[in-house]
Amino acid sequence: AATEAEQDLTDGFHLVIDALKLNGIDTIYGVPGIPITDLGRMAQAEGIRVISFRHEQNAGNAAAIAGFLTKKPGICLTVSAPGFLNGLTALANATTNCFPMILISGSSEREIVDLQQGDYEEMDQLAIAKPLCKAAFRVLHAADIGIGVARAIRAAVSGRPGGVYLDLPAKLFSQVMDAKAGEQSLVKVIDAAPEQLPSPAAVKRAIEVLKSAKKPLIILGKGAAYSQADEELRSFIETTGIPFLPMSMAKGILPDTHPLSAGAARSTVLKDSDVVLLIGARLNWLLSHGKGKTWGDAPKKFIQIDIEPKEMDSNVEIVAPLVGDIGSVVSALLDEVKTGWQAPSAEWTGAINARKEANIAKMGQRLLKNSTPMDFHSALGALKQVIKDRPDAILVNEGANTLDLARGIIDMYEPRKRLDVGTWGVMGIGMGFAVGAAVETGKPVLAVEGDSAFGFSGMEVETICRYNLPVTIVIFNNNGIYRGVDVDPTGRDPATTVFVPDSRYDKMMEAFGGVGFHVTTPDELKKAVEEGMKSGKPTLVNAVIDPAAGSESGNIGSLNPQSVVKKK
Ligand code: ADP
Ligand code: MG
Repeated sequence: AATEAEQDLTDGFHLVIDALKLNGIDTIYGVPGIPITDLGRMAQAEGIRVISFRHEQNAGNAAAIAGFLTKKPGICLTVSAPGFLNGLTALANATTNCFPMILISGSSEREIVDLQQGDYEEMDQLAIAKPLCKAAFRVLHAADIGIGVARAIRAAVSGRPGGVYLDLPAKLFSQVMDAKAGEQSLVKVIDAAPEQLPSPAAVKRAIEVLKSAKKPLIILGKGAAYSQADEELRSFIETTGIPFLPMSMAKGILPDTHPLSAGAARSTVLKDSDVVLLIGARLNWLLSHGKGKTWGDAPKKFIQIDIEPKEMDSNVEIVAPLVGDIGSVVSALLDEVKTGWQAPSAEWTGAINARKEANIAKMGQRLLKNSTPMDFHSALGALKQVIKDRPDAILVNEGANTLDLARGIIDMYEPRKRLDVGTWGVMGIGMGFAVGAAVETGKPVLAVEGDSAFGFSGMEVETICRYNLPVTIVIFNNNGIYRGVDVDPTGRDPATTVFVPDSRYDKMMEAFGGVGFHVTTPDELKKAVEEGMKSGKPTLVNAVIDPAAGSESGNIGSLNPQSVVKKK
């Protein structure tokens, strides 16, 4: 039995756990090891769900997507130095994507690190994390844990959300203090992400620009999805009758099949629109920086809603900046248009609809082919139907052709159901996002993965099996990166972009007790995926795709430098 003295004490371990729980944090994603093994154990014993991964980057990606889906910071817990660096990639990616996340990492002894005397896993983690995330803090005294956790939470979710690093040195965990004083040192963060109302003058200015438009367009970005202002956005779009174009993770805020969706007429609306209202979308490379060929020659005016004032004018002039949170700004705009609004001309909406119909009809032919080997279109035609039948399922998507074509082909019907490579276009988010989405929502997850993309996080199929998560993975297996047909001109090795031909990824899933399928036709693919999603069992479908199908770098081949010399 504990002595009386012990009962009156608390320590760093317990204060960290109590501080997280006090702030409603119920899940930690991580990889155990020195010095945070016991922290994970104790957190689990105290009722926090602790999901252990095989690699920190995947745990970090799970935490990041948890942040995107819930508006609460996702927590990733790692060991020092290498584990920390692995998690840091996900933290930097979360920051780039504006997802709230906290990377908590145990670090070695300050005294030794600062004198560079060579400690176990020595690294000045705080200094390294700082330039790669939104904020970074270190706690040295148990009495400061409450404040440290509070600052981390507020930094992650307020304003533009992002990644926060919280450095907890090994010695902190075992520091003891009076239990009562410890309890009093904890901070419950009040109004962590306060509403930010736009100024009335900014609203008036934006409405005037919008009213002057002959060919208006709304672009919804993942900031709009994150804001969860689903009702306000729908109401604003339907009241104004302005066509909308969703960025990939904004698909489903309104269904892709909505009459005002301009998704299937993307190039037309970008070129021909005269006023563009950006809602939680940045004019970065994904929108060709708001200029050039993509945007046509006609003069264009941009209105932008963003919580980050510095985002305005980042690439082109924003004639009507609306700084504030999307819910508040769109409500203010809605109040204005309710009292008098002229819908866009039938000429504009008619031109968009004509283009949409033509594009959809053209695509439709290619989706229906039930042939062997499958190409991307015929395989995606099957998956399009699966999501139509299960619109509540979450679609995770990465790859090159697998990503670019799925984004266009698979319609989404509900907000925050499409999770993908985001702002960096990075490979490796797949299994982390799949686990995070399944844990946070309890919904079935369908992860559509290029064979190359899957390789970055494939070992987490064990994690998926261990926690028995309702995740169905489809590997578009075309034997390689981009395509599986290259050869080494010297004949010595396999080409740099080619994998072992005819690999059976389905056997990986079977190795851990999940269900594997090997399919070669769209019909088989559809049947296997439906079975996996219906059963809720971890399932992996190895879908054989013609190694010659697809194109180098998918849709972004233009970003791949070419050698002039080679071509001579
Ligand atoms: P996409 O890649 O879908 O175009 P981006 O990630 O480029 O989207 O842009 C998202 C934008 O949304 C960021 O500039 C971010 O500051 C902004 N944002 C995020 N949450 C909110 C919010 N609640 N209110 C307003 N803006 C937000
Ligand atoms: Mg491939």
